[in-house]
Amino acid sequence: MNFLQKIAKFLTANPQSTPAYWLYVECDRCGEKIKVCVNLHSDLSIRYGESGDEDSYFCRKMIIGVQRCFQPIEVEMTFDRNKKLKDRQIMGGQFISAEEFGS
Ligand SMILES: [Zn+2]
Repeated sequence: MNFLQKIAKFLTANPQSTPAYWLYVECDRCGEKIKVCVNLHSDLSIRYGESGDEDSYFCRKMIIGVQRCFQPIEVEMTFDRNKKLKDRQIMGGQFISAEEFGS
């Protein structure tokens, strides 16, 4: 198999681009708005459900803006087994919508 065939095989095995969840946060201290991509393949850790509970996924992100305040914003997210967001918490900032972010 040559290089191009390998690439073609790789592409057909992954017909969709990497699923991602976009997170928009605003820093509590300086008000900076930050957009973060959560890679639903590589950023999540599985949590196996205890008897009867569904498996879920967990992700923790530490976000630091590019402005000068350097306050870390910590986000914790829980996803269900279909990788749909179930719950999220933030420390050091606020969740904002894509509209508020102004992308
Ligand atoms: Zn800040």
